[in-house]
Amino acid sequence: MINIPLSKPIIGKEEKHEVMKVMDSAILAQGRKVLELEKKFSSMCGSKYSLAINNGTAALHTALYAVGIGVGDEVITTPFTFVATANSILMCGAKPVFVDIDEKTYNIDPDKIEQAITKKTKAILVVNLYGLPADYDRIVRIARKHNLLIVEDAAQSVGAKYKNKISGNLADISCFSLYATKNIMSGEGGMITTNSKKYYEKAKLFRHHGQDQNKRYYYSGLGYNYRMTDIQAAIALVQLKRLPWITEKRQQNAKIYSNSLVKHNNLITPYIPPDRTHVYHQYTIRFDNQSPITRKRFRDYLNKLGIQTNIYYPVPLYKFRHLTNNAKIEDFPVTEKLVKQVVSLPIHPLLKKEEITYIVKAIQTFSSSNNL
Ligand SMILES: *Cc1c(COP(=O)(O)O)cnc(C)c1O
Repeated sequence: MINIPLSKPIIGKEEKHEVMKVMDSAILAQGRKVLELEKKFSSMCGSKYSLAINNGTAALHTALYAVGIGVGDEVITTPFTFVATANSILMCGAKPVFVDIDEKTYNIDPDKIEQAITKKTKAILVVNLYGLPADYDRIVRIARKHNLLIVEDAAQSVGAKYKNKISGNLADISCFSLYATKNIMSGEGGMITTNSKKYYEKAKLFRHHGQDQNKRYYYSGLGYNYRMTDIQAAIALVQLKRLPWITEKRQQNAKIYSNSLVKHNNLITPYIPPDRTHVYHQYTIRFDNQSPITRKRFRDYLNKLGIQTNIYYPVPLYKFRHLTNNAKIEDFPVTEKLVKQVVSLPIHPLLKKEEITYIVKAIQTFSSSNNL
């Protein structure tokens, strides 16, 4: 039976060895591995500071707190993302304000940001969906004009480049996830990067109950326990070393798909603007000018052949009651269309060449027999 999963974590000898070393050291928390990870993560993305956090959602909560988001503030973001993006805004007592996406990049549409800005807007939380950076130059220009902060949700874009910068260094503060399915992972985990000493220090306090840096058991305010263990850090350090290879593999796999699917006019492959790179956390295609039944049949067809696919994301976030606010469906024509069309294919680095060939053939057969 062929079974090709959508994602697969890389767990090699080195990860296992490093975990055992931490176990043998008996220092499982607040030890040296976490510090080493922070140092290496900073140098990977070229940011001055970095903090290891216990997951990506906590990283977003911490980052928003660190830049000063609080009760009554509004934060602009995309509705076409994982729910954690918007939930982190609620966690700060602020209000998520959704803006429609760009049809080609699937990221927030800079043209529609300004009309969503009010007196209460404090920040724009930008997601680099599927691993493709959003249009930061244009977003930064809008943010400067209106005195807004930019927070980068880089959960899916580790290693991606925008012009001469790397994801993690594209905003005032950036957040990563090291969840098991992400490009690099530690089971659960997260990272924050920033060039601001002030944000770094605030985030560091927040991660550890607001405890005074020099005075144990004295607290400067509300904080949480958002610390990463040294076991997680040990895994993440090995993964970080693998990152160039992981990215290259994902990009190679994507190239094979895109080259083989280019002739099917109604099947749209990922678009990469020339000024940035895509790290393919997901390789997502979409069926244009087709009824949603085509996508369902496509997924069933691949599933029968043992090829796993998924839809990221089937429901825009403004449809969920706790996030709706005053969102009107008419304001999201692109999101409304794309949620019905997208489907993600296996792209992970452990895919064998024969498996990709097999998937490509399956897609071509389906496409030809459906006149796509
Ligand atoms: C995975 C993810 C998160 C949350 O990360 P966790 O580590 O699962 O908490 C946030 N935003 C986006 C876009 C993600 O893909």
